Amino acid sequence: MTDFRSATIDLDAVAANLRRVREIVGDVKVLTVVKADAYGHGAIEVARAAVAAGADYLGTADLDEALALRAAGIEAPILCWLHGPDAAFDDALDAGIEIGVSSASQLERVAAAASRERPAVVQLKLETGLSRNGASENEWDALFARAQALESDGLLHVHGLFTHVSNTSPEDDRAALACFERGIRLAAQAGLRPVLLHAAATAAAIDLPESRYDMVRLGVGLYGLSPFDDRTSADLGLVPVMRLTARVAAVRTVDAGAGVSYNYTYRTEAPTRLALVPLGYADGIPRHASNRGPVSINGRRYTVAGRVAMDQFVVDVGSDEVAVGDEVVLFGAGNDGEPTADDWADAADTINYEIVTRIGPRVRKEYR
Ligand code: PLP
Repeated sequence: MTDFRSATIDLDAVAANLRRVREIVGDVKVLTVVKADAYGHGAIEVARAAVAAGADYLGTADLDEALALRAAGIEAPILCWLHGPDAAFDDALDAGIEIGVSSASQLERVAAAASRERPAVVQLKLETGLSRNGASENEWDALFARAQALESDGLLHVHGLFTHVSNTSPEDDRAALACFERGIRLAAQAGLRPVLLHAAATAAAIDLPESRYDMVRLGVGLYGLSPFDDRTSADLGLVPVMRLTARVAAVRTVDAGAGVSYNYTYRTEAPTRLALVPLGYADGIPRHASNRGPVSINGRRYTVAGRVAMDQFVVDVGSDEVAVGDEVVLFGAGNDGEPTADDWADAADTINYEIVTRIGPRVRKEYR
């Protein structure tokens, strides 16, 4: 393998970001979210680094993601919360994985996999305004009563209650927390004694102290990225973890008027030199950033010229000295003038989450 296309993952930055968030949130547990291959950074490596740095819990969406962590020998507490109709809850119980339960029917399927010798440890996920995964308020009474009955039977332990807020506005998030509070009270009335309450992902953990409860769930902030439009990683004291680079694969000299990439959405204005970068939308480079995405080569900034194709895009480097094999930085921490994932998110009209999460399997990951 060469470093033709590579994503360098700075595991020290993972630890530093966790420390930084602990400084902000104070004395609560931190669950580090490693779903979606740790937002494209590599789930096993990031999970190990996060646990070594003191993460209290790991969180995934899918059960398969959680099982993969166990298969890699990771023993930290794991919560997973998004299940299909065929989720293998049996396997989850074998592996000691806590199951986020979002409905009465899910609770029954979890209970069916449990026994008194091997009770299920669950956390009930309450829907408080996002209209997504989680039990709706009108289901809570029945859900809590059934959970309590199963707990009395020794089949189940309700370890936690959690919700997820929308980051729409502090008022909307406070309304969601007020709804969560109603759920907490109802659960207590039903005889449940969950000891782990949590509601906040990165944005609420930073901005809304009352959302921190017993634990915050740290996703994008662990990767050193800001969830806010108006604050950068540096503003928050976070260090971007991923640096995406490639090597110039070809350089050609062309005349004025040369068409560049599909549909000739870019034409050279003067004789110039074009550098070919071997990264494309198959590698997660958004096609929407055609003619807009920023790169840096030898310390100079350029913009993608023409369409991003499946495997490659072109940069017009003018008369600058650029040679085959030179490093092209798409994004990094931004300390040396290179673009950041935020810059690519702007260029592609999306969010930094999507930029890192979509990096494809052909990009070799290097950990340091
Ligand atoms: N908690 C839940 C339930 C999530 O689905 C997510 C991610 O979407 C997170 C926490 C982490 O969010 P963030 O990356 O904004 O910190």
